[in-house]
Parts: sequence; C-alpha cells; structure tokens
Amino acid sequence: MQRFQYYIDGQFLDGEARFPSVDPASGKEWADLPEAREGDVDRAVNAAEQALYNGAWSKMTATQRGKLIYRLADLVAANAQKLAVLETRDTGKIIRETSAQIAYVADYYRYYAGIADKIEGSYLPIDKPDMDVWLRREPIGVVAMVVPWNSQLFLSAVKIGPALAAGCTMVVKASEDGPAPLLEFARLVHEAGFPAGVVNIITGFGASCGAALSRHPKIAHVAFTGGPETARHIVRNSAENLASTSLELGGKSPFIVFADADLESAANAQVAGIFAATGQSCVAGSRLIVERRVKEEFLTLLKGKAEAILIGAPLDMATEVGPLATRRQQEHIAALVDKSVQSGARLVTGGHRPGGEGYYFPPTILDCDGVNSPSLVNEFFGPVLSVVSFETEAEALALANDTHYGLAAGVFTQNLTRAHRLMKGIRAGVVWVNTYRAVSPIAPFGGFGLSGHGREGGMAAALDYTRTKTIWLRTSDDPIPDPFVMR
Ligand code: NAD
Repeated sequence: MQRFQYYIDGQFLDGEARFPSVDPASGKEWADLPEAREGDVDRAVNAAEQALYNGAWSKMTATQRGKLIYRLADLVAANAQKLAVLETRDTGKIIRETSAQIAYVADYYRYYAGIADKIEGSYLPIDKPDMDVWLRREPIGVVAMVVPWNSQLFLSAVKIGPALAAGCTMVVKASEDGPAPLLEFARLVHEAGFPAGVVNIITGFGASCGAALSRHPKIAHVAFTGGPETARHIVRNSAENLASTSLELGGKSPFIVFADADLESAANAQVAGIFAATGQSCVAGSRLIVERRVKEEFLTLLKGKAEAILIGAPLDMATEVGPLATRRQQEHIAALVDKSVQSGARLVTGGHRPGGEGYYFPPTILDCDGVNSPSLVNEFFGPVLSVVSFETEAEALALANDTHYGLAAGVFTQNLTRAHRLMKGIRAGVVWVNTYRAVSPIAPFGGFGLSGHGREGGMAAALDYTRTKTIWLRTSDDPIPDPFVMR
C-alpha cells in the first residue's frame, strides 16, 4: 500500500484517522490515506488565517507572489507524468487524458502567476472637492476549496491559481475518492517555497471534514465543485459563517446537430463530449438533440464509433475508455439505464455491466424519442448518451432549454445566422459551436441554474477572490465644519 500524508501549516501529517483508497481498475485497495476531522480542519484554517495576516505571505509584493506561482507551475510541468500516473491509478481516468490535462494545469498556474501583479485598485473621481478616494483590492480572506473526485488537480488549479494571485490563503479539501494526486501536489507547493499556512491540503469525508470546513467561522469564501445536493449543504453551512460561495455543479448539457452539419466531425465531437473521461465530466454532452431527417444516419455513425472504442486498463496509453471511479458510480449508472429502458428508451448500444474486475461500464446510447425517460433529466456522470430528435429550430432550442441545469451546450450547423440565434437563445454558461469540450485559463467557465454560480478562469476569477476597501482622505487643512451635517 502506498502511504500518503496531508499538508497543514507547511508540515506533512498522518491525520486524525486513516482510510484506504481503491484502484477502480481492479477494485482492490492500493493506498493508505489520512482522514481529517474537525480538529485538523481547525488547525488548517487557523494556519491559513495566521499566514494571511501575520506571516511572510502578507508582506510579499504581488510580483513576489507571482514568482512563487510561476515556480509552482514549472514544478507541475516537470512532475506532470508522475501526477498523471497517480491520478489514473486513484480514479481510473485514462493516462492519455490525465497526462495531457495535468501538463495543461501548469498553464493555468502560469496564467494566474502573470495576473498576480495586474490586479489593480482605482482612484475615484469623487464629487467632493476636498477629498481623495481610492479603492484598494485586498484578498477576500481564508478560502475553503472543496473538490470532487474527477480531475482534482485541474479543478483545484482553477481555484488555487486565482486565489494565490489575489493574495488569499486557503484550505483545499480533496475528495475522499481519488485524493492521492492532490496530496502529492502538496509536495510541489512545499518545494516551490510558499510560506507555511498559505496552501493547506487535506482530505476526509464530506459530512465530517467538508461540512466542518465550509461552516468554519474563519472562512470568508467557499469555492465548491461537485453535485447540486452537496452544494445545498454548503450554502446552508454558509448561513453560519456568512461566507460567500462559488458553485460549479453538474449538467445535462444539450448537443444539437442540424442536418447541414459536417456529420463526421459532429460525431467525433459527440464521442469526445460523452465518452471521454468515461463520461465523468461535468460538461458531458449527454443529451443529443438531432434533426429528424439525419437521425438514423447520425446514430449509425455514432454507434459504429462507440462500438470501436478501446475499453481497457487506464494506465495503458492505447485505452480510450477506462473504469468509472467508484463502485457507487457504476451502480448508479446501471440503475439509471435500467430505469430508462423500463420507461421505454431503446438501447442502441451498450447498457450492461461487463463481468470481471473493476468498475467498468460500456459506452451506451439510449434512443429516447417520444419517451419520458429519466435519462433525459438526471445526470449520469458516466458514458451514457440520451437521444431525441426535432424538426424545427424552435423545437431544438426548446428541447435544449428543457432542463434545470445550464452548464454547457454544443451546436453543430453550417448556417451562421442560425448559430448566432442559438448561441443567444441557449441558457448555459458555455456554448460551443462546431466544437465541444474546449477549455482555456483565459476563458471564464461556469453555469446557470442548477449548474451553479460564479466563474472560474479568466481575470474575473482572480477578482472574485478579492474584496474592495474604500479609502477616504480629506485634503483640506480647514477645520471640519458643522459636525451634525453629513458631508
Ligand atoms: P459530491 O458533491 O458528492 O462531492 C464533492 C465534494 O464535496 C467532495 O470533496 C465531498 O467530500 C464534499 N462533500 C460532500 N458532502 C459535503 C458536505 N455536506 N459539506 C461539504 N462538503 C461535502 O460530488 P462528486 O460525486 O464527488 O462529483 C460529481 C459531481 O461533481 C457531479 O455532479 C459533477 O457534475 C460535478 N462536477 C462539476 C464540475 C464543474 O466544473 N461544474 C466539474 C466536475 C464535476
């Protein structure tokens, strides 16, 4: 068993308790992990508070902070392969994807390293002749970051990067499933030379560790990625400490294909949109909305591609679909597919758990035309695509918006004016036209409705980790006049 520690106040610790991590490819325990409970959460938050107000970090210039983030980015790039192997081992996400994604994580840190000394205050053209008034931008405070099991290094980078640029200190809670790569990343934070307490990385269970962290009285902001039900707990907890929240939640994203689209290209994008990362992606394009007259042609194309996917060991570079991260996830997906078939949905391909070890589930397509299938409403967070068809553009738009979520959408058409109408009409935080699943540190990302609020990526995300302070300076030497009149 490989043994991991967590990182509080610049020290690597064993934790109040220990628990095992399971390799999803074999279903066997492979790592021994530390479990933080209320005591360690409290230590970590206190360390972050000390670092924010009293430590070396609080005295650094923004440029010095930026240099430390650059150093961290270089260390992530140099250790990308090692981190990728750990993430693949601990979550089952294929090595092809983790290697590319973690190399790109370094670019997220670089982007925010550059932003550190570009966060500016302002001077206000105030309406009083004897006053100078400025806005200072200060770090928002100690930030709690709670992330889910898929892509923990990426989903934490989009929080840690901007928060460091803004000068915050933080406690990052890795998911109880697959936290090994984030615990290993703590070693790079240490090596980069961040002062103790600036970045604390712990792991533990949601109901104990996550809840204690998100309601801690010294937390100013909770940055959360996960499911809507957990988000409700976090928001209720924020009633205790009155912390602000940013919530990146799930989705049931529409993928619209018009008859005039390049169907081969759209089919490849749909495969990426639903089967990459074994469908465990918040932006999964899980509802295919296809124009009726090309539905059969498009489904035949997709079925061929889905059945040609190489399912295998996640550490093998050739593998295209690996196991799901947990048995819980595998059972949830199997149950929802069964319920959908019982409701009348037709299995085009896949749908059944294979025998053997590991938490595998094959690429699955459900034809839901004319059926009130639960698969059109509920998030699988797995490799399952639900299909409906339309005749008119208005019908396509209505189907796309028929969801409480609003994270992402894809539109495939060669018709430029139609593409513009749809990108305006679709209610989602990200709309991709003739492409899917593209991200960048420069582009904000986030959802509408049940997909959450707040944006990650871009300059605005760094500003969200600041609060303004208004400074008034009276420039007159005359005595203050009538004290009973507000000036
Ligand atoms: P989850 O909501 O169960 O868990 C996420 C994190 O919250 C974990 O660290 C967990 O320990 C913690 N947690 C659980 N209960 C808590 C509580 N009461 N208080 C505080 N923290 C608590 O999500 P999951 O199953 O790990 O991940 C899957 C979900 O994440 C999906 O819904 C997916 O769509 C979503 N997701 C969203 C994005 C995005 O950027 N929008 C990205 C990836 C995943």
